[in-house]
Amino acid sequence: MNESDPRYTIAPGAEEARDETGRDEAAREPMPIVYLNEIERHYQQGESMLHILAGANLALWPGQSVALVAPSGAGKSTLLHIAGLLEHPDDGEVYLDGVATSGLSDAERTQIRRIEIGFVYQSHRLLPEFTALENVMLPQMIRGLARKEAARRAGELLAYLGLRDRVMHRPSELSGGEQQRVALARAVANAPRVLLADEPTGNLDPQTAEHVFSALTQLVRATRVAMLIATHNLELAGRMDRRVTIRDRQIVELE
Ligand code: ADP
Repeated sequence: MNESDPRYTIAPGAEEARDETGRDEAAREPMPIVYLNEIERHYQQGESMLHILAGANLALWPGQSVALVAPSGAGKSTLLHIAGLLEHPDDGEVYLDGVATSGLSDAERTQIRRIEIGFVYQSHRLLPEFTALENVMLPQMIRGLARKEAARRAGELLAYLGLRDRVMHRPSELSGGEQQRVALARAVANAPRVLLADEPTGNLDPQTAEHVFSALTQLVRATRVAMLIATHNLELAGRMDRRVTIRDRQIVELE
């Protein structure tokens, strides 16, 4: 992004968010990676309007994991899509690194998504005809990395996530937990600043969910990515740095 572009402005919420974290921390991390400011989202449903978010605010910080815990239909996917620049809010602003994104073209948003944002879904969404290694190489090659370098990085990431012996397997030859860890490696292949996950352990048995969750927290610590995970798993949510929910169309911190 070009910060001298007049369309980009510094997030007004950055100052408030900084005060909550304390001065020392602020010296190292002056602003959140993602700041959702007064977000509004509604959907037309027949004659009526369904209001999902209104005046919703959320700051995501580097190296911090945030659980988004709310009932089905509350708007978790909507929030993740807005934070990931997949969907436009009806009002409010999404700041990435303090830079407003609403004025960006679709091409610019796509480019930012490729580099800065990683997504993990409930089902792995890996390409079935490619190996684990190739699935993790692809986003890097789309970004412009040479095949050899992409393969090296993909191999390293998969090994880091305990999949050294599985790199040449196709998704159908992997267990659910292994598939999800490959999906995780793919999501962070371009070293994003933000990792967004929608029920990433929702399809897994408790022990496998634990493996995938450990991999996620390991990645947050190692890469200082900012992570927002929608989850129904209260036990896993309890082990994350922060918990938030959607209440009365706003984002509220849980204790
Ligand atoms: P969650 O992820 O918490 O289950 P969602 O964000 O998927 O919730 O959806 C929130 C509400 O918005 C649901 O009632 C859903 O039916 C509605 N909704 C989501 N997307 C659309 C859409 N494109 N058009 C109309 N309604 C939608």
